[in-house]
Amino acid sequence: VTQNEHDTDRHDPIPRIVVIGASHSAVHLADQLRAGGIEGSVTLISAETDLPYQRPPLSKEWLKGGATADSLLLRDPEHYTDNRIELVLGTTVETVERDGDRVVLRLRDADGDTTRVFDRLVLATGARARKLAIPGAAHQDVLVLRELEHARILATRVGTGPVVVIGGGFVGLEVAATLKGLGTEVTVVEAGGRLMGRAVGTATAGVLLDAHRAMGTEVLLDVVPERILVDADRITGVELADGRRIAANTVLVGVGAEPRTELAEQLGLACDGGIVVDDRCVASDGTTIAIGDCTVQVASDGSRVRLESVDNAVEQANTAAATLLDQQPTPRPAPWFWSDQGAWKLQIVGRVAGHHSALSRTDATRPNRVVTLYFVDDALVGAECLNAPADFVALRSALGRGHRLSRDTLANRDVPLKKLLAPMGTG
Ligand SMILES: Cc1cc2nc3c(=O)[nH]c(=O)nc-3n(C[C@H](O)[C@H](O)[C@H](O)COP(=O)(O)OP(=O)(O)OC[C@H]3O[C@@H](n4cnc5c(N)ncnc54)[C@H](O)[C@@H]3O)c2cc1C
Repeated sequence: VTQNEHDTDRHDPIPRIVVIGASHSAVHLADQLRAGGIEGSVTLISAETDLPYQRPPLSKEWLKGGATADSLLLRDPEHYTDNRIELVLGTTVETVERDGDRVVLRLRDADGDTTRVFDRLVLATGARARKLAIPGAAHQDVLVLRELEHARILATRVGTGPVVVIGGGFVGLEVAATLKGLGTEVTVVEAGGRLMGRAVGTATAGVLLDAHRAMGTEVLLDVVPERILVDADRITGVELADGRRIAANTVLVGVGAEPRTELAEQLGLACDGGIVVDDRCVASDGTTIAIGDCTVQVASDGSRVRLESVDNAVEQANTAAATLLDQQPTPRPAPWFWSDQGAWKLQIVGRVAGHHSALSRTDATRPNRVVTLYFVDDALVGAECLNAPADFVALRSALGRGHRLSRDTLANRDVPLKKLLAPMGTG
């Protein structure tokens, strides 16, 4: 931890920017600020001790053993010094308060508490894995997966016995597919009537349900875990509300993530399932910036959108950089997301929630390839592509260009999507 001993005395017209968090959104923001020629200091503070790393591989390549801590790094270690980005790791921001135009942080690391003062504040505090509140859930073998440290623990459980994954969302299903591929017996327990209920349409959820079952994973829907069974301090299984008992010696809880809003709340910022920000990533006090998984964005029509994705982290970082550099933000392309579940590659672009109709395009010669298109009125607003990366690229490009793509045009299954989309623009 570096501490500028003059911090509290400085009266420097060059703003000192502090970003709380040092993950996807924070690192991209720091780079954009330097690329934009910002003067003054840029400091990233993270409670984690690892150098900033990519989270998505934690449930995929990393768990498989196909990635190392080094290959996960978002940037090489020298990148931070070369670009005058101060990285303060292993340090938790305990409190934040405003003192006139300044921001005063109380930091805690292994050596104790310090105070630092900055001029501009960015909250990039992300989200934490939601925990379960059922008997036995505090056992040390009931795991979550959000951080590299969690992944290290999960990796030690591979091959040690059956695993129950509680929650059929993206993280739970990715872990289930990876563990299954490594020969582990896996049961997924989902409270809803289908998988990924919050994020994908019924067609995609149905195809992926079949895919997981074909991989040999037991997937139970409409079931609620009631307690974790523990015998002589070891986990033996999970008891469901209907009385069934599923054997396990490890339980992974994948029931979503909660935005980390506690510092925003200390500042009295509006929070409503995330730190509320406008289209410039500015919070309700008109000066604090917030980006990434910790935010909820209020669109121009008043609707609220909360996205948990690398794409959103990067795009909000671009917007926040423009705000801090006093520039106009460039228009945001259509949001996108990916999830790899075993051999299945899901890519989503645009918006799926609130659609009026859906249209699935399948290819009889390639049954694992499914594209589902979503429409509001007659216009395409989003798509989910399973094992169809070329179609995804074409759809993303077409949606990004803002062309109106009608249901009638796209319903023609005899013509490949790429061809239907090509005449719409340059891409
Ligand atoms: C296992 C897994 C798989 C994923 N797979 C995908 C995928 O396939 N595709 C995709 O698009 N997205 C995926 N995601 C989501 C993606 O990783 C997140 O959207 C992204 O990490 C958000 O970045 P962020 O910068 O907003 O916050 P985060 O990555 O959550 O980082 C926030 C950081 O802030 C730190 N912090 C918070 N409060 C404090 C404090 N008070 N003091 C100090 N530090 C603090 C935290 O410790 C953390 O390091 C996955 C996530 C996980 C966990």
